[in-house]
Amino acid sequence: MSEPATLLRAVFGFDAFRPGQEEIVRAVATGQDVLAIMPTGGGKSLCYQLPALMRDGVTVVISPLIALMRDQVRALRAAGVEAGALNSGNTEEETEEVWNAIGAGRLKLLYLAPERLASVGARDMLQRVGVSLIAVDEAHCVSQWGHDFRPDYLRIGELRAALDVPVAAFTATADAETRAEIVERLFSTRPPQQFLRGFDRPNIHLAFAAKDSPRRQILDFAAARKGQSGIVYCGTRAKTETLSKALREAGHPAIYYHGGMEADDRRLAEQRFQQEDGLIVVATVAFGMGVDKPDIRWVAHADLPKSIEAYYQEIGRAGRDGAPAETLTLFGADDIRLRRSQIDEGLAPPERRMADHGRLNALLGLAEALDCRRATLLEYFGEEAQGCGKCDLCDRPADVFDGTEAVRKALSAILRTSEWFGSGHLIDILIGNPTEKVRAKGHEDLPTFGVGRDLKRGEWQAVFRQMMGHDLIRPNPDRHGALTMTDAALPILRGEDTIRLRRDTIAAAKARRPAVK
Ligand code: ADP
Ligand code: ZN
Repeated sequence: MSEPATLLRAVFGFDAFRPGQEEIVRAVATGQDVLAIMPTGGGKSLCYQLPALMRDGVTVVISPLIALMRDQVRALRAAGVEAGALNSGNTEEETEEVWNAIGAGRLKLLYLAPERLASVGARDMLQRVGVSLIAVDEAHCVSQWGHDFRPDYLRIGELRAALDVPVAAFTATADAETRAEIVERLFSTRPPQQFLRGFDRPNIHLAFAAKDSPRRQILDFAAARKGQSGIVYCGTRAKTETLSKALREAGHPAIYYHGGMEADDRRLAEQRFQQEDGLIVVATVAFGMGVDKPDIRWVAHADLPKSIEAYYQEIGRAGRDGAPAETLTLFGADDIRLRRSQIDEGLAPPERRMADHGRLNALLGLAEALDCRRATLLEYFGEEAQGCGKCDLCDRPADVFDGTEAVRKALSAILRTSEWFGSGHLIDILIGNPTEKVRAKGHEDLPTFGVGRDLKRGEWQAVFRQMMGHDLIRPNPDRHGALTMTDAALPILRGEDTIRLRRDTIAAAKARRPAVK
């Protein structure tokens, strides 16, 4: 059996392993059950391709993406490895060739679409050909509450039992529930060895800012990085068009991209971004899948992404070359409201909606973090990290105060008005502003009226936003977004828990704004 490092060079042409690859390769090659979690682009395929070459017999690779399968088979063949795929996209000739290679005992890697597992013929075939390892790509597809659920993935457990061979499962989805579900469904009889590696991207600087004047904030960020390639992600198609126009008017080469464009126009935009230096693409999340540009120097979010996973994937497009890259993510109370209502109004079953709220909460926790963002982010993925020195909060610690009193006052205003009002009216009550609406509703007479005069309106806005971020309050979709209290707020209301808040992030963002010429 050749050494992994020798094969790495001879077959794949790489000089060194990426973080985590070598230990995973050794575990898989020696026949252990493995669940490996690595970020997209981290080099997961190598972790089963290389062991396949070190082991006798055939390695079956279950993969849901036909295009990806094809690419991998082509690349393996070009490197002199006998590999083939059985999927619905094959021509008869291709399928014939694969069967021949299997028959002759030459094949080392057999890629299978999950649908194949439903066919008795395919299962019989796998029993006969001497399978020595099952590799499962995109293993999170077994998760019923995830977004990529593939019912046929549930058959992998049976296949494993029938063949009695080790399973090596791979995914980039790292949240704890998904991991637990993969273990339960693929490894029910004995738990796998788990690896979680390579999520840190140390060259990417992380920063969040509360939305103040969002367009200005993005223009300033781009102005400080003139001439560099960057992506601005927006929440809506319309915004990609207006913001790219504003960037052009500010003297940047900028184009827009969204899913509503003709396929040809999208391809052209991708090509331009790939080839031109210093171009800015203002895009919806539709942009990025097919983009492999190593020198993207910055990524900005003009609106809050939908989950912590989406955030990670989107900022991860920056700095693939390893050189320093910067990110900025804007967020505001409106984003939180929008993301919540998107989840609530979606058609997903209740459990999945709960999980989606959880993923959004994780991102909001990162947005409202009080200490190192990288540590907060990596902790979510299960990796450890200390103060990184490369995030806005390491650069400049947050100005934190004990917000327990303020939060209790805000909750009291919400409860005394029977959870029927939005933050604007609630703040009027708190700061004792006798607007027409306040007087008409008789809210001047509430004991809460004016108890919050110690904070300015902007500071109260920051308090409400952070309360939403901590999921203490949620907009009620049936009451035009009136704020309601969640159970998470009860301990604070009862005086059993305290909460630290950041002081007026909005004012801080203003002070930090660099001068623009
Ligand atoms: P993933 O499936 O984790 O998203 P891939 O397996 O497709 O990632 O690998 C991403 C890219 O990294 C591929 O182009 C692959 O050839 C390359 N790659 C993988 N391992 C190494 C390595 N040790 N050194 C250099 N490049 C590597
Ligand atoms: Zn940090």
